[in-house]
Amino acid sequence: MRITTLSILLATVCLAGGFTQLSADEPVKIKVLIIDGQSDAHDWKGTTLVFKDIYEKTGRFVVDVATTPAPRQDMSGFKPDFAKYDVIVMNFTNYTGDRWPKETDDAFEKFVREGGGLVIYHGANNAFREWKEFNEMIGVGGWGGRNESDGPYLYVKDGEIVRDTSPGPGGHHGPQVEFVVKTYTPDHPIMKRLPEAFLHCKDELYCKMRGPAKNVTILATALSKTNEGGTGYDEPMLLAMDYGKGRVFQTMLGHAVEQCKCVGFQTTLLRGTEWAATNEVTIPCPDDYPTADKTSVRP
Ligand code: ZN
Repeated sequence: MRITTLSILLATVCLAGGFTQLSADEPVKIKVLIIDGQSDAHDWKGTTLVFKDIYEKTGRFVVDVATTPAPRQDMSGFKPDFAKYDVIVMNFTNYTGDRWPKETDDAFEKFVREGGGLVIYHGANNAFREWKEFNEMIGVGGWGGRNESDGPYLYVKDGEIVRDTSPGPGGHHGPQVEFVVKTYTPDHPIMKRLPEAFLHCKDELYCKMRGPAKNVTILATALSKTNEGGTGYDEPMLLAMDYGKGRVFQTMLGHAVEQCKCVGFQTTLLRGTEWAATNEVTIPCPDDYPTADKTSVRP
């Protein structure tokens, strides 16, 4: 009898506390795990706060954060329980940090292979050059010593996707510039019903990205101009990959907090995360979405 009374009491407290996701007409929230913790050049603490804020403001996501030990500290205890989440977001922003324990690598591979979602944000594609399965998941990456032995350069030339096996280093960007992000695959759920192009605020325009580049859908590109230190090609900015039963979304955008204020960045990140987690997209295009010739940033 005491247990029953306690149960009723707890149920009353829960309802009063606003656990509305239990009601039938509201979808269950997507459980996000952001991983951050090591970077030599990026403000990962700042961007984690931005991400948590924009995810939770939608009402569609709940967010936990797993922070790795600092560089050269004992990594053996870093074992997040990936299985508790729908999608993992790598906020590594140039993770040139330490490897995880083998057990964590294995659990991560299992999570994605069996259908978990993964989001690779900006410099997360700098990480883990030597981890074969990670590179299969992300499609292409840069820096960390990457070269022709890691796979072809991936870009778009005259509208056609090119896998270019030329030798050379992987990963480059010129000085920060504003640039147009243009949809390449308009019928993909992440891009559907978004305007076909938006002007992104001043950011690093990644180019010369290379990797296994298998099972890759290029969602959107940006022209990397030679007079701005680029390649002259349309470089992939947003990508979707399959890995086993899992879905992976990669955005090359968003160097730091300032760049993450772009509404185009935020909208595609939210939609990409939702797609990776559920294979569907319900996040709408907001009224303040940037146009092809005017940026839009939120405070
Ligand atoms: Zn950067």
